[in-house]
This record gives sequence, C-alpha cells and structure tokens, in this order.
Amino acid sequence: MFNKDLNLNTVNFIKNEYLKDDIPWYLGYSGGKDSSAVLKLTFNAMLQIENHHKKIYILYCDTGVENPIVTNYVYHTFEKLSLENELHKLPFIFKILKPKIEDRFFVKVIGRGYPTPTNIFRWCTDKLRINPVSDFINKSGRSTILLGVRKSESEQRDRTISKHDSGNEYYLKQNNSKNKMIFSPIINHSLEEVWITLKSLELPKSIDYKKIREIYQDAESECGAIKTEKGKACGSSRFGCWTCTVVRQDKSVKNMILNGYNELNELYKFRNWIYEFRDNKNFRCRKRRNGIEGLGPFTIEARKIILNRLIKTETKSGFKLIEQEELTKIYELWDSDINNPKYFE
Ligand code: SF4
Repeated sequence: MFNKDLNLNTVNFIKNEYLKDDIPWYLGYSGGKDSSAVLKLTFNAMLQIENHHKKIYILYCDTGVENPIVTNYVYHTFEKLSLENELHKLPFIFKILKPKIEDRFFVKVIGRGYPTPTNIFRWCTDKLRINPVSDFINKSGRSTILLGVRKSESEQRDRTISKHDSGNEYYLKQNNSKNKMIFSPIINHSLEEVWITLKSLELPKSIDYKKIREIYQDAESECGAIKTEKGKACGSSRFGCWTCTVVRQDKSVKNMILNGYNELNELYKFRNWIYEFRDNKNFRCRKRRNGIEGLGPFTIEARKIILNRLIKTETKSGFKLIEQEELTKIYELWDSDINNPKYFE
C-alpha cells in the first residue's frame, strides 16, 4: 500500500540533503522508471528552494547503440525539461554524454575487430557506460551522484548495495573513490511506490508517466556507476544496447516488436545475425593481437561484411545507426591493421 506522505517526505529529505553542503550533484538518468522517479522527486525538492546555491547535472549516457525508442524519448524529454527548468528557474543542467570515438561499439567491432561482447569477454560496459559518466564527474573534486538504486530491485542488486555500504542507508560508497558518494533517495521504495511516485507527482510535466509505462513494459534500465556482476548483461530484462550479445536473446526488444514497435525488427535481426556470425571461425584471425594462437579479432573481410550489413539495416530501419566520425575512425583502423606486419589473418 502506498504511503501518501512518502512523496512529501522524500521531497523534503532531498531538499535538506541538497542544502546541507556545497558538493555538486550529478543525477544519472537513463529514461527508465527509477531514474525518472529520482528526477521527478528532485525537481519537486528544488521547487521548494528559493536560492539554489549549486547546480545539478542531469547526465544521460548515449552509448550510440541504445534502444532508439528509448533514446528518442530521452532526447525529446530533455528538450522539454530544459524549458520547464528555465520556467521555474531551477538549477538543472542537462548533459548528453557519449563514449570516446575509439570506444564506440562499432568502432571496436568493425574498426578493431573486437568480437561482440560475450559472458567471458564483456569489454563494453566500462567503455560505453561507465567511463563517459565518470570522466565527466571526475572533472570536479567531491561529488554526490544521485541514482535510482533500490534495495528491493533484485537479490543481485541487494548484494551490490551491501558491498557499497557507507553506514548511512541512503548513501553508498563509490568504487575506489573517497570523494564520491552515491545518494539514492528511493533506496527503500518498492516497485509499486516508484510507479505511483511517477504517476502522482504532477511536475515536471515533461516526464511522461504514460509514455514510460508504454515503452517500459517490464524492463529494467540501470547500467551506470554501480557495475553489475561480471558475466551478465546490464540487467536481466532491461533496455540496454540493441546490439547486446551478452544475453542469448534480447527479450526486451523482442517484446517491444510483439507489442507493435515494428521499426525495431531490422535491428533485432542484425543482433541475432551478429550473435551467430561472431563465433564463425572463418571470420576470425588465427591469432590474438598479443600473438597467442586462438580465436583473434574479426578479419578485415568480416569487418567489411558487418559494415555492409549494418548500413543495410540502417537504410531499412530508418534509424541512424552509425555516425560519419565513426566510419572515418573505422577506415583508419583498417589501414593500420592492413599495414601492420604483426597482424595475422
Ligand atoms: S547492454 Fe550489453 S552490450 Fe551494452 S554495455 Fe551492457 S552488457 Fe554491454
């Protein structure tokens, strides 16, 4: 049962935490229900303050391979939120972060020949999701990172939370950093309370409860500052990278297609195709980059096949899937391998 005072208490609590020091705040936003709830509650807390003595950065990491339905929703929401922020004279700054060009998914796979991520070789999470956010936050000294982490989310999440215990139940220690604390005002919220929070708070209007509910289905979407267990994708059923091959099947995209998002069909087919293609020995170098015998990177021929297929997928789906600067980097990396005498096909 939802406690009616919960929103009020949480908003007051956030307000008091904000006022108590000068440490800058960074809110990790994914477009999912939990981070949307934290953003809504924080927005309402800021409405109660007249003089905002510090900025709050709202960070969205666009990996370049996010589910495009979610990315489009977030870009659109950010535009509308910026207007509401100005209207109410609030301290929010909205930032879209991207991985470094050399770390982008297709630059790694098509340019360098990395096999798409597996349980054993999950090279993607740091490069695509953790580093862009931590590079941005590391520019400041001390910082408080607001995340929509919840205890009741999963047993795995509970174990992760207890590893980061700070002694204060709303604050978690950040890996390898004394200067950074994670603050989750909804740590004790149940799933139901999160949805009711989203529905019951009127402002900001830009966070569209119905739209989140509609696209969210039963997926999860946190792949941020707290890492998930090695060998697992960024959540068992979640919106993540549409290219994710850590999981055998992308249930979230499959469900969305079944529910009418036909535009995702071409992306789904590409992901399933590359999942099989990755393990075909004929398309992998005989040696790894360190010279050891074994399944190495994709051959140049394989990388060309993948690029071709990706461009066809882009045309058929109508989604922008690869940027010009990524293509330039890919061609540069092909040249460097072709001219490298130590590179074995
Ligand atoms: S969703 Fe999959 S591909 Fe994307 S960062 Fe997480 S594990 Fe890697």
